[in-house]
Amino acid sequence: MKIILSHDVDHLFWSEHYFSDLFVPAFLARNIKGALRGRLNPSLFRHRFKTFGRMHQLDYLIDFYNQENIKASFFFGMDQALGLSYNPEKARPLMNQLHNLGHEVGVHGIEAKNFGKMEVESNMFSSLTGIKAFGIRMHYLRLTGYSFDAFEKLGYLYDSSVQGLKPPFQFGKLWEFPISIMDASFIDNFQFNHSLKDWKAKTLTYLNEANRLNLPYFVINVHDVYLSNAYPTVRAWFEFMVDHLTQNKYEFITFQGALNELNSGVQK
Ligand SMILES: [Zn+2]
Repeated sequence: MKIILSHDVDHLFWSEHYFSDLFVPAFLARNIKGALRGRLNPSLFRHRFKTFGRMHQLDYLIDFYNQENIKASFFFGMDQALGLSYNPEKARPLMNQLHNLGHEVGVHGIEAKNFGKMEVESNMFSSLTGIKAFGIRMHYLRLTGYSFDAFEKLGYLYDSSVQGLKPPFQFGKLWEFPISIMDASFIDNFQFNHSLKDWKAKTLTYLNEANRLNLPYFVINVHDVYLSNAYPTVRAWFEFMVDHLTQNKYEFITFQGALNELNSGVQK
């Protein structure tokens, strides 16, 4: 079983939210509630209430993967909705930097049913990056009955917007890579769950189950924004997980690396 590490880039800077959406008030309300329930210590409280400057943690991930010699897959928004509000032009240098370092970049899809709008996102990505063959993961994993059909028509190589401990499967020419573990749905109340012991134990349970099922790939999705000082438990969990996988000699691969294996029939 090989490991695919992936990251949905939902935010770049706090300022992209100030006049365009209700992300900041909703975020503050959620964290005030958490603080009142005793789920934020003073240091976390301070970090969570800093709502200016950079939100993305791509510099941390670039350094981390550089040290670990791992290539990962990153998805960037090409449209705005549901708290994803950055202008894709602003993501261009980051996408190019990651791509030049050998990481994979793809589309974090917003539109799930209107073909014209889906096409705009796909065209925007190729014109910003110059990349012609790429995959997609939907923001909030939103899919409609028509999405796979549209992804295939648009020439996406793969999608990774469903969850479950399942092997990749094909929809026409499109490959679907189910997500094995995703931060937001992994553990109850994840932004306020500081029990690293529980995060670790659950991770090992999932890995054991995936091995028992003999899955060829184990897909991990961690939103880079939760790797900041404001979410030390998520970051400690992420580092534990990569360390555990490295220690246990798992190989890391990108989606496109896995696709090459699947298409040439050499995957083990
Ligand atoms: Zn997203």
